Parts: sequence; C-alpha cells; structure tokens
Amino acid sequence: MENTYQTGVIMHEIDPDGDMILTLKNPCAPFAVWHEDDATPLPTSLDLSSQEPQGSDLNCSDEIIGLAPTSSAVTYRISSRHLSSASERSRKMRHQWEQKRESDGYFHISVEDWDSEALLAILNIIHLRNRQVPHEVSLEMLSKLAVIVDYFEFHEAVEVFSKTWIADLQGSLPTSYCRDLILWMWISHVFHEEDILKTVICTAVRHSLGWMEDLGLPIPEHIISQVDDRRREAAVQLVDGLRALKEGLQYGTKACSYECQCRFLGALIKGLDHFHVFDSTFEPLLGCGLTEVIKSTRQLRIPARSGRSSCDCTMNNLTYPFLGKVENDLRRLA
Ligand SMILES: [Zn+2]
Repeated sequence: MENTYQTGVIMHEIDPDGDMILTLKNPCAPFAVWHEDDATPLPTSLDLSSQEPQGSDLNCSDEIIGLAPTSSAVTYRISSRHLSSASERSRKMRHQWEQKRESDGYFHISVEDWDSEALLAILNIIHLRNRQVPHEVSLEMLSKLAVIVDYFEFHEAVEVFSKTWIADLQGSLPTSYCRDLILWMWISHVFHEEDILKTVICTAVRHSLGWMEDLGLPIPEHIISQVDDRRREAAVQLVDGLRALKEGLQYGTKACSYECQCRFLGALIKGLDHFHVFDSTFEPLLGCGLTEVIKSTRQLRIPARSGRSSCDCTMNNLTYPFLGKVENDLRRLA
C-alpha cells in the first residue's frame, strides 16, 4: 500500500513486511543553491533554465507541499536486509541500526534534507520493485538521486538505471558555466562517468568567471581545485602575454613600424579594455571567461594601413606565441 497518511506523515510501504522504518526529515530542503552574486554566468540560451530560483524546483510531491513545515516528514517501511545487502557501506551500518530497535519491534533510522521522490526511487530499486522506478528523470532529479547513492554507496545496485538515466540526458551537456554544469560535475563524479567529467571540467575551465562553485554538494576538492588551477594557469599565461604585447607595441619592440605599433596598440587597448587585463592590480580574469577574452582578441578590429605600404604584421602573428599555447593547453583538457 502506498501513501498511507498517519498524523500528517506520509508512509510509503516499500515492503509491507519490512522490519525497518526509515524517516526522511525536512524533505523539501533547498537543493544545490546557485548564488547569482558569486559567479554570474554569461546569459546564453542554455543558461536560462538554470537561472531560475532554486526554491522553485524542489521536486517535492504535492502531498509534502501540503504538509505543515514543522511536521513534514516522510517515512518508508523497508527491509533492513535489502538495505544492508545493497552495498558494503550499508552492510557495515547494520550494526548501528540494530542498536535502534524500538518497542514497536522496528529498527528506526532517519535521514534529512533529501528529496522524498529520489529516496523512494532508490528504495524501490534496492527492493527490486523495478516497475515503480522511473525510466527517465530530469537532471535535477538525477543530481538528487546521486546524493543518496553517494551516501549509501549504492553505485552497483542502481547501475542498470543510472546508466540509462545518464545516457538519456548526456546529449544536452551545458556548453557554458552554469548551475547545470556543476550538477553534471557532481553526477559524473558519483557515477564514475570519466568522459563526461573530463568534458565538464574542460567547459568549466574555459567558461567560468572566477572560482569554481560546488553548490554545497560534496564534490571532491581535487576536482574543484583542478578547475581552479588550470583556469588560473591559463589566465596568467593569457594576461601576461597580452600585457607583454602591449608593452612591446608601446616601446617599439613589436611590429614593423611606428604606424603598425599604433594600429595594433590602439586596437588592443580599445578592444580589450573592458576586461581590465591591462590593470596591473587586476587578478587575472576574475569576472570574465577565458574563452571570451581569447575570442575578443582574435576578433579585434585593426585599423587599415594608410597609403600603399605593406608588411606581414597581423594580430594573429603578434599574439600567436602566447595565444597559441593557451589554446593548445585548453584543447588538451578535452
Ligand atoms: Zn607592420
């Protein structure tokens, strides 16, 4: 029997003969909140859905929304044997559960802040109720499922489903730095999808506007610092190269003539001024993406030569020594 109501608490009968009551407290907790002020993503069409307030998409069931916030809880009658056999970690937890058998004869355990539908899906899988498991899920729901899988280490137990869920969604990986990109980082880490993780890291390095966010998800520090370190390394190379080129043009060591120096120096300062790359106190590229600065440099508008003079000076030739290296390094990430 499903959704039995007992004094304002939803009960899911996963196993009517089960010996354990699992209580989910605070089932509508905000999930993976994106702080707009910390790292405003560039407004592309792919970002639009991810810029909605997170509180609007909590995947709470209607029943839960109808409950008073102070009493909201969801319980699941389950089999401790199924739970403990689904992973090594949950097998080890069994000893703690056995301390919690109460006078009603049930083991009682509680968790909090998870999504009730995500927990229901995972418990259905663990109890082999496969017909009750959704064949398709949203990216949001997959991220919430990953939280539970990560906690109990249910990777193998859910693998048949998780591979299908991921395969259905991975065609729309974000191409800019946004909340969805971080959710994909989380999902690909939890489900050991190395190719997706590599792509996501590469996109984050190219497009993030500052330090990598983790949205409060337990993404390992080594992944976050991999993005930050590679981004910073590329940003320093790019900014150092642009500053050296500016000085070379200004003091006459670059380009063929006074006229060419003025043409390229003017284009460089006017075209890249808004990125503040020439401010000596400026932290390299905080507030703008690597790809954005590279693209703008490639597309600088260069004043035409006067008269009939001709030479081999082009912005591509002048920037190649450093821009080529930065672009190659970024390509090697993919
Ligand atoms: Zn020239």
